[in-house]
Amino acid sequence: MTHHPSDELLVAYASGAVPDGVELVIACHLERCPLCRAEVAAAEAVGGVMLDEAPAVPLSVDFDALLARVVVAPPAPARPPPAPDPVFPAPLVRRLSTTMSAPFVGVSGLPWRFVVPGARRVSLPVGPGPRATLWLFGGGFRPPRHTHPGDELTLVLSGGYRDRHGAFGPGDVEERAAEDAHEQRMDDEGCVALIVDEGPIVPTTWFGRLLARFASG
Ligand SMILES: [Zn+2]
Repeated sequence: MTHHPSDELLVAYASGAVPDGVELVIACHLERCPLCRAEVAAAEAVGGVMLDEAPAVPLSVDFDALLARVVVAPPAPARPPPAPDPVFPAPLVRRLSTTMSAPFVGVSGLPWRFVVPGARRVSLPVGPGPRATLWLFGGGFRPPRHTHPGDELTLVLSGGYRDRHGAFGPGDVEERAAEDAHEQRMDDEGCVALIVDEGPIVPTTWFGRLLARFASG
């Protein structure tokens, strides 16, 4: 793994200040990256020290009265944890297991929607903020040249691609700023990726405009 989220993004993640879709991408990367896990742990430790050093606020709470009002919820029925998946990290498996109507059985069981030959997609339900989409690209596929109205975060899940920033493989994360026009070529084996972005792509070719019409539906 050679491409990691930026320090800024990891620190924001550690402080819980990133939107849901971004959090999902980082959590998936962390599962496969001990380097970034250590960085997040260090950032969380610094945050904890800052909290410890904050002046104590005197409390005037009647804990007995508070406890008397606590209703103990019955334990939720135990659900077996989802089995590990060769393509999707555990945070994504958990998300897919809880948000898709059909049981999660792996990459082939997702309700992929045809976009253009060589590209299929599935929208992933996430909280407020950037949208999240799973993409399945065929070998050698080249998305049309396009720009982005907002930032875009890509996590490779299997296979890979290459662009002017280098070669990206499973677990790699690429951050692209808005208006960064780019061209990619998928590896021969194809690529499955989770892409979090802030809006539909802005194609710069007629073929791209065709793709955008399908890709934003
Ligand atoms: Zn990393």
